[in-house]
Amino acid sequence: MMEGKWRVLPEMMEDALPVLKQLNSYGFEAVFVGGCVRDTIMGLAIHDVDMATAALPEQVMEIFPGSIPTGLQHGTVTVRFQDELYEVTTFRTESEYEQHRRPAGVRFIASLEGDLLRRDLTINAMALMADGKLYDPFGGQQDIQGRWIRCVGDADARFQEDALRMLRAVRFAAKFDYSFSYRTWKALRSHHHLLRHIAMERVMAELNQMIEGPRPAAAMKLLSASCLLQHAAKPLPALMAIQTNPRWDRLAELRHGLRWAALFVYCGATTDQIETTMDSLRFPGRLNTSVMAVISMHLRMKAALDVAPNDKEQQQPIRKEWTSCVLEHGAGAAADWLEILVMEASYPAIAMTFRQWLEEMPATTLKQLKLDGHALAQGVNRQPGSWMGIMMKRLLFAVGMKELPNEPEQLLEQAKLWITEDRINDNE
Ligand code: ATP
Ligand code: MG
Repeated sequence: MMEGKWRVLPEMMEDALPVLKQLNSYGFEAVFVGGCVRDTIMGLAIHDVDMATAALPEQVMEIFPGSIPTGLQHGTVTVRFQDELYEVTTFRTESEYEQHRRPAGVRFIASLEGDLLRRDLTINAMALMADGKLYDPFGGQQDIQGRWIRCVGDADARFQEDALRMLRAVRFAAKFDYSFSYRTWKALRSHHHLLRHIAMERVMAELNQMIEGPRPAAAMKLLSASCLLQHAAKPLPALMAIQTNPRWDRLAELRHGLRWAALFVYCGATTDQIETTMDSLRFPGRLNTSVMAVISMHLRMKAALDVAPNDKEQQQPIRKEWTSCVLEHGAGAAADWLEILVMEASYPAIAMTFRQWLEEMPATTLKQLKLDGHALAQGVNRQPGSWMGIMMKRLLFAVGMKELPNEPEQLLEQAKLWITEDRINDNE
C-alpha cells in the first residue's frame, strides 16, 4: 500500500487531473490535497477532490475562464472543468489566529510545504502530484500505517490557534479507529476549555458527523474522556452523561436520523435537557420534530411501564397508552422508538408485544378510518362541526385498540351509540 507513487487514482481524481496539468503547463505547482489524498492512501472511497496551487486566485481564474470566485479572501476559486466543479485554493499560511478560531489574515505563498504546515493533522497534510508522487513532509503515511492521530507540528499551538481542530481530531480518530499520539491527546486535554470560542453550528456539524459516522461509540468514548462538551459555548445538558456506556456500541446499528434520539434516550436525559441541548446545537426543525416525537413517546411509555410493568393483568392500560402514543406521533415514530427500545436492556420482552400491537392496528390515521367526516355527519343526522373531529378520534382509538372493527356500518353504529350515551349523561 505504501509505495511512493500512485499509478491508479480514484476516478474522481483521474477526471480532475487535467486541471492540475493545465496549471502545471503555465508553470504553477498544483497538487491534490486534504481528504482525497488521505482517503486514497487509506484505500477508501473519496467523496470530493480538493486542489491547491501556487497560482494566485486571479491567475487561476484567467487560466480557467468561467471560474467562480467562491472564497477569494481564503484563496479559493471554483473551477468549472468538463461540467464538473472543483475547488482550487492558493497555497497560503494563516497568521495570528483571533479568538482561537479564525486566522486574522491569510497570506498567499509559493511553497507547498508552507501550505501543508497550516493543516491540522499529519494524515490531512499530504499532497499528491499530477505524476502520482506523494509529498508527505510530516509523516502522514507513517501515521496511517501506525493508525495515529497527530497534529502537524506542535499540538499545543495548533489547538490554541483553532479550537475546532480538537473536535476534528476526535471525529477522525473515531471514524478511522485511530489512536491519539501522546502529545496530541495531552494538548487536547489541556486546551478543551477553548472550545467555547467555536460557533455552535460548527460544533453541531462535527457532532453530527460523529454520530452519523461509522463508529459513533468510539466518538462518544473520546468525547467523554476529553471533557470537550463541557466547554462548548452553549450548554449541552443532555450530553453530559455520555460516559462509557455499553449501549453506545449499538448506536451504529440504528439507521441514520434515529441515532440522536437514541443517544438522548441512552443518556437518560429529561425533556428539558434535550430541548436545551437541541437549542444550543441549533437542531434543524425537522430533526427536532422527529427526535422529540420519539423522546416524548419514550417518556410516556416508560412512565406507563413503571406504573404497570409487563404483567399480563395490567396490559390494558399499557396498551391504551401505546395506542394513544401511536395515534399522536404516528406509526413511523412508533416503529423508530421500538428500534431503540429493543436495544435498551430494560424492556426487551415488552418491545415484541408493542410491535405486535402496532402491526395489528387496522388504522393509525384518520384517513385510514373507513368513515369520513361527511359520512359521519350525514349518518347521525347532525350539522358538521367541531364534534366531528372529536368523534373521529374516539372511533380511531377504539379501532386502534381493536375494540371496534374498521367498517363503515359498525363505526357509524358506535358513533350513534356514543351520541345517545352522551345525551343521557348530559341530562343526568
Ligand atoms: P472530510 O471532508 O472527509 O471530512 P477533509 O480532510 O477533506 O475530510 P475538510 O474539512 O474538507 O476535511 O478540509 C479539507 C482539508 O483542509 C483538511 O484535510 C485539512 O488539511 C484542512 N483543514 C480543514 N479544516 C482545518 C482546520 N480547522 N485547521 C487546519 N486545517 C484544516
Ligand atoms: Mg473534504
